[in-house]
Amino acid sequence: MQKAKQQINEILSSSKNKSIVFFTGAGMSAESGVPVYRGEGGVWHEYDWEAFACQKAFDDNPQQVLDFHELRRESVLACQPHIGHNIISNIENNIKNVTIITQNIDGMHQRVGSENVIELHGSLWRMRCNQEGKVFEDISGKYKTRKCKCGAILRPDITWFEDMLNQQVLINAIKIIGNCDLFISIGTSAVVYPASELPIIAKNNGAYTIEINPELTMLSQMYDENLRVNASDALVGLFDEYRNK
Ligand code: NAD
Repeated sequence: MQKAKQQINEILSSSKNKSIVFFTGAGMSAESGVPVYRGEGGVWHEYDWEAFACQKAFDDNPQQVLDFHELRRESVLACQPHIGHNIISNIENNIKNVTIITQNIDGMHQRVGSENVIELHGSLWRMRCNQEGKVFEDISGKYKTRKCKCGAILRPDITWFEDMLNQQVLINAIKIIGNCDLFISIGTSAVVYPASELPIIAKNNGAYTIEINPELTMLSQMYDENLRVNASDALVGLFDEYRNK
């Protein structure tokens, strides 16, 4: 931890841009009580994604899919962001070029005031009309409406299984990652493309890379530093001075 902290301080005092990317995954929200994907307590141990989280399931039974997502929204609303989310938001408020690139769909970063958030896999809090291509924000637990004015049933604006990522969002993320000085990955198993490529892009472009994850991942060896601790402990350890800023 000490070595990583020293490196961070050096980067922040020497680099002109001071560009930091926090790359977060389900492990970032685990301490808030939002279940991770894989591993113990993972969402897809309990539910079959083919029935709840793909376009085909939505086409076959949209109301069942929307009921499932409504449950997820209600359970996320019952969870609270933790100190780690706050620290990242405080860093964002104090350093100019901070970007959060998240695979999470839970909106936890935004709930503590983070604004510069790129959501690679969409958001539980947006609905999309596939017919008109419009996107609507809807932040309540129960959906305000399940129907677009055009009559089509709205679907969650989330990258489901077998969906393509929004290409513009991905291009934007890659551009920022390619120019960052410090890349801190938090709580992602990074097994699925393109998430698995993003830390490599940062490293190949000269960023100092840190992985925060209590467990080894496929990419662990690639990072300059591995911190085998929880997200909140690592963020407090690395950025304690931003706790109350
Ligand atoms: P993942 O479930 O594949 O991996 C989670 C990782 O977090 C694991 O490597 C685990 O060791 C680590 N982890 C667990 N607790 C941690 C903690 N306290 N601190 C730090 N790390 C911890 O998740 P992923 O890599 O994000 O990829 C899965 C996909 O699941 C993403 O596409 C995402 O859209 C979706 N997802 C999102 C949420 C959410 O929005 N909160 C939740 C579940 C799944």
